[in-house]
Amino acid sequence: MFVTIKVVAETEASIQVLVLAASILAFIIMILGFCFIVNKEFVVIKKYIRRLNKTKNADDIDIEYNIKNKFRFIKDAEMLINSRLDDKYALVHYDLNKFTIVNNIVGYKVGDEIIQLIGETLRKNLKNEIIGKADGDNFFVLFEFMNIEELIERTCFVSDKIESMSIWSKVSINPVIKTGICLIDNGELDIRTAIDRANFAKQSLDDSYKSCYAIYDNKIGISLIETKRIENEMNKALERNEFKVYLQPKVDLKTGEISGAEALVRWEHPELGLLSPDKFISIFEKNGFIVKLDMYVFEQVCKNLRKWIDLGYDVVPISVNLSRIHFLNSNFISDYNKIKKKYLIGNNLIEMEITESVVFSNENENEVFKVMRKIRDVGFEISMDDFGSGYSCLGLLKEMPIDTLKLDRMFLKNIEEYKSQIIVSNIVDMAKHLNLNVISEGVETEMQVDFLRDIGCDMAQGFVFAKPEPVETYEKLINKGKTNYYQAAI
Ligand code: C2E
Ligand code: CA
Ligand code: CA
Repeated sequence: MFVTIKVVAETEASIQVLVLAASILAFIIMILGFCFIVNKEFVVIKKYIRRLNKTKNADDIDIEYNIKNKFRFIKDAEMLINSRLDDKYALVHYDLNKFTIVNNIVGYKVGDEIIQLIGETLRKNLKNEIIGKADGDNFFVLFEFMNIEELIERTCFVSDKIESMSIWSKVSINPVIKTGICLIDNGELDIRTAIDRANFAKQSLDDSYKSCYAIYDNKIGISLIETKRIENEMNKALERNEFKVYLQPKVDLKTGEISGAEALVRWEHPELGLLSPDKFISIFEKNGFIVKLDMYVFEQVCKNLRKWIDLGYDVVPISVNLSRIHFLNSNFISDYNKIKKKYLIGNNLIEMEITESVVFSNENENEVFKVMRKIRDVGFEISMDDFGSGYSCLGLLKEMPIDTLKLDRMFLKNIEEYKSQIIVSNIVDMAKHLNLNVISEGVETEMQVDFLRDIGCDMAQGFVFAKPEPVETYEKLINKGKTNYYQAAI
């Protein structure tokens, strides 16, 4: 009896052990199966992306750079997103900042080589992403990501790799990569919209000399809406005379008297109030409207000069800003000349301020010089605006057909420091030896005025004397006779 019970108990125990072992085995098989499926799927995605990246259809590849063109990139990105709608994607736009200037410094051949190397760097470091090339030095990458931190890390890893390409030290350039990111969740966003938004995010980055990124968000979206509003209203605003010319006096540093003025435009918006140029000029430069606006400002200046001459006021030259966009088509000179003649404005009463970037960021400075000579031939003076703000090449100064050098306010930043003083005084000295007038802008303190006068700078313009004022206020000033700022303002 006892033996029977023992046998039964032993049998039950071994059955339990067997069941346990079978369960563990089943569990292990399940885990292995799961891993196999996940891995297989991962391999399938990887293969899928690699296959997409290997498309060799000549029409789809930017042959020179061996990267998909925008058209193919969009198609493949759409295909991938639609095949896995639950995943998160990001459209990343990489742009080498100021590539025209890079081209200008190193020449087109090396410029092309640099773009090729960027393409290679992307291919080498992004095996599982779709890569595409847009215009010029712009590249797109479609990243699949888990969370933002990890996405940013991977995005910046790529820009770091581009920045550390060995070519940069050979051509002595510090590369700056601007990156715009647009997130695509649940495939809800059309890829073309994502491309636009990544581009907007990139454009929202300021003009710093450091590589940086921006992710498209509502704020950027709002500024996009503001841009659209400005574009919708600009033509009506011009018809309704909402653009106003403000004038800021320039002061002769020897006599303290007004020796000129700069016309600076403002928009008196009926709902948004007084808008400064930084709210609209860059938008107008992108859509071309600046050509009309500059002409309008110029005509207002001519009209006022005529009026003041007729009234017997003591007029001094007025400068107008000429956007770089005019240099795309030099026909504007004859239009300006017609207006000048219409108001019987004598030669050298109007000066064109051309920012230095027009010359130095242009592929062909000789073409720019040709246009500048034509401007002078019809009786306008030329001032090189923002000189020293980042583009200038001193060697070109001797060939440049200009009358005045306008030093950027950046030069005054640390002017109390000895080294800064040495730089500014030598630039003024050099300009004087080249027979150029020199004016310093953004002058805000008496100390700066004294320093500039002592080193022989001819003129100064800045808040220390006067802010840009409406035409009527300036008119009162010149009506009084030449204001002496040494007695009046400081
Ligand atoms: P800009 O040609 O370099 O003009 C000088 C800017 O410096 C003006 O800004 C002026 O108000 C400001 N400014 C003058 N004195 C001082 C000072 O002491 N300190 C500081 N911090 N700033 C001073 P504003 O009027 O806002 O114009 C900004 C830019 O917009 C101008 O820079 C010019 O590039 C552009 N702009 C203005 N009006 C026109 C225009 O009619 N046509 C074109 N194409 N561009 C224009
Ligand atoms: Ca200016
Ligand atoms: Ca300036």
